[in-house]
Order: sequence, then C-alpha cells, then structure tokens
Amino acid sequence: MRQGQQRNIAILGSTGSIGTQALDVVRKNPELFAIEILTAQYNDELLVAQAIEFKPNAVVIVDESKYKKVFDALNPLDIKVYTGASALNSVVQMESIDMVLTALVGYAGLIPTIKAIEAGKHIALANKETLVVAGQLITDLCRQYKVDLLPVDSEHSAIFQCLAGEWHNPIEKLILTASGGPFRGKLRSDLMNVGPKEALKHPNWSMGSKITIDSASLMNKGLEVIEAKWLFDVTIDQIEVVVHPQSIIHSLVQFTDGSIKAQMGLPDMKLPIQYALAYPNRIPSDFPRFDFSQYGSLTFEKPDLETFRNLGLAFEAMKKGGNAPCVLNSANEVAVEQFLKEKIGFMEMSEIIEACMAKVPYIAKPVLDDYISSDEEARRIAKELVGIS
Ligand code: NAD
Ligand code: MG
Repeated sequence: MRQGQQRNIAILGSTGSIGTQALDVVRKNPELFAIEILTAQYNDELLVAQAIEFKPNAVVIVDESKYKKVFDALNPLDIKVYTGASALNSVVQMESIDMVLTALVGYAGLIPTIKAIEAGKHIALANKETLVVAGQLITDLCRQYKVDLLPVDSEHSAIFQCLAGEWHNPIEKLILTASGGPFRGKLRSDLMNVGPKEALKHPNWSMGSKITIDSASLMNKGLEVIEAKWLFDVTIDQIEVVVHPQSIIHSLVQFTDGSIKAQMGLPDMKLPIQYALAYPNRIPSDFPRFDFSQYGSLTFEKPDLETFRNLGLAFEAMKKGGNAPCVLNSANEVAVEQFLKEKIGFMEMSEIIEACMAKVPYIAKPVLDDYISSDEEARRIAKELVGIS
C-alpha cells in the first residue's frame, strides 16, 4: 500500500453498520481519504444523502426499483448511478480506486471481492463470509495480484495488530475472544422459544441484523475461526475460542516462546475500520478511551459447544475443508433469514445447517463454479427443509 497520498476508497454496503461507521472515519480525515464509490441494496434515501455529502464518482443502488429516484437526485451533481447486483462487479474495477471496503452482508460479497482483487485493489475485509466461502481462492488471488487483504473484523484486526513486527516469528496459537452474545449462560432448554427480539439484543455491539443473530448463536465466532485460518495461515488446532463477556480484549496471539500478546480497547468498530483504511499508519482518533478503574475485572470462560452447536459445526466444516464451509455459510444465511421472519426457532438453525452439510455433495478442491453451485444447492436444501422451496 502506498503511503503519504490520499486514498480513494470504494465502500460496498455504505448504508449499513460498518459502512456508516467507515464514513464517520472518512468524514474526520478528509485529507487522508476520498470516497470513489458508495453502494447500497435498498436504502436509497441514505445512499443519496451520503453521495451528496461525499461526492463519489459513482453509486450503485442494487434494488432496481429504486434506480430512477437515485438517478434523478444524483445525475444533476455529475455522480454516475448504476443498478443491479452485477453493477458491483464492474464499479470495483474503476481505475481511480485504491481500496475496496467490503461491508456488504453474506455470500453476495464473493464475486465483487474477486473482481476487485483481479483489478489490483487492496481489500479492507469486513465481509467475513467471502473468506468463509472461498478462503483458498481469495487468498491465492491476493497473492497472485499482490493485493493486501486487511481485516476489519475486530478480532482479526486485534491479531493483525499483535503481529505487527512479528511476521517472521511463528504463531503457536490464535485466541479469538467472543462476548458470548445475549444468551451466554443459557441452556438448550432456555432457548427453545426465544425469537428475533431477544436474539437481536446484543450486550456490547450494535451491528446489522444478520451478524447480530450470528453472534447470538455463536455462528459468528465459527465464521471468524474460518476467517482467521485464511488470514493468518494457521491450522484448526492453532485456533482457540474463549468467551470474554466484557469485550475489552479483542483477541490474542501466543508465540512459540509462550508469550501472549493481546489488543485491547473499548468495543468500537471505528477503530479496526480506521486501522484497515489507514494501514500501516495509526491515525489519531477522539474515540472514548478505556479506563482501567472502571473495570474491576476482565473474565474468561470456555464456550458452551453443547448449547451453541453452530460453533462446533463451523470447526467441523473447517476440518473437512473443500466446499464444506461454503455449505455451512449458505445454509446459515437461509436459516438466519427464516429465523428473523419467525418461520423457524432459534435451535432449528443448527439442525438446518447440519442437514445441509450432510446432504450437499462434498467437493475437496472446489473452483469458483463449484462454490456457486454449492451455494445454490445448500440454499435449495435449506429452503426445502424450512418448507419454502
Ligand atoms: P448491515 O446489514 O448493517 O449493512 C449491510 C450493507 O450491505 C448495507 O449497506 C446493505 O445495503 C448492503 N447489502 C446487504 N445485502 C446486500 C446484497 N445482497 N447485495 C448488495 N448489498 C447488500 O451489515 P453490517 O453489520 O454492516 O455487516 C457488514 C459485514 O461486515 C458483514 O459481513 C458482517 O459480518 C461484517 N462485520 C460487521 C460488524 C459490525 O459491527 N456490524 C463487525 C464485524 C464484521
Ligand atoms: Mg468480530
């Protein structure tokens, strides 16, 4: 990544939780960052307001029914407006972009991220699902096109920060912290009748609905374990998850001499977002500071794999490799969507994922087309199981 010049950034998913916080960082540092592209799925009003403020080269409103409204608002300002999911694949390749922040949700991030890498754009990766689905393919492409893959997820940013200056030193273990979510300490029997309202109440973080449900079911930590494997090139046995309800230690690295480094701070996604956007520099911020005197203790527990089966399923998928993590992810996306619509219960999500993992044919060395077909097949089976095929 070149230093010293203003960075031109494309934000995929600028109207979401990560997208809006990234724009907060950009707003405070106009000399360092300029916005080239903003994209949203449905929220035309916020997208137009963001475009009026940040004056990007172009925007994409994925939902075609909103195109005219966005076009009428931005065309007089000389901002290009595109629509449809495939528009994301072309805008990320625009000459003027230096870095693409992938802040959209789910499998939809895969192809735009591939296209951005192929055009030599550095990636600030919030969209962990892309690495879960196709970690081998994405990391191979990053190597081939010599682009940086910079983590935005707080745990992975923490590990990345702990590794600064240590790249030549072998890692013994990565320790990912998990808040435990709103159902920490609950048993299977307690969770039979919980609905989206309870599951959406995260104790420490305010995030989009999909990742909030994933946090409640611990699938988020499962996806992050797979994400960590690809980002830091470690094996399954080198990754441990520890529940840390205060969310102050964002993750840790243990080296082969037994020394453990941790990265700490108040839970605020703007810090890892800013670290990725400005990498390798740290830039000043006015975010609230952690005060040791306010915290009598920081505590740690083992995750309850019996109640939160999704975490175990993710470890299983990672061990199996091939297309298994892709199937896990796609089945989970359907399960979360149906849980949010109150069509299935909280515990049924794991059952659907497990059934899909058993039913979708295993592919040991998938290529892009295999990921696409595994995603379709997993979604088809998951929907059939829910009864909405
Ligand atoms: P969100 O739901 O708040 O926002 C998602 C954004 O992506 C919106 O702008 C939406 O318009 C767009 N989008 C959604 N689906 C799309 C699709 N199919 N095609 C194109 N655009 C689409 O989500 P979020 O919480 O900001 O999360 C974004 C990503 O970052 C996820 O992969 C999540 O796991 C990851 N992440 C989020 C947080 C967090 O604190 N929110 C933390 C770590 C990682
Ligand atoms: Mg995280």
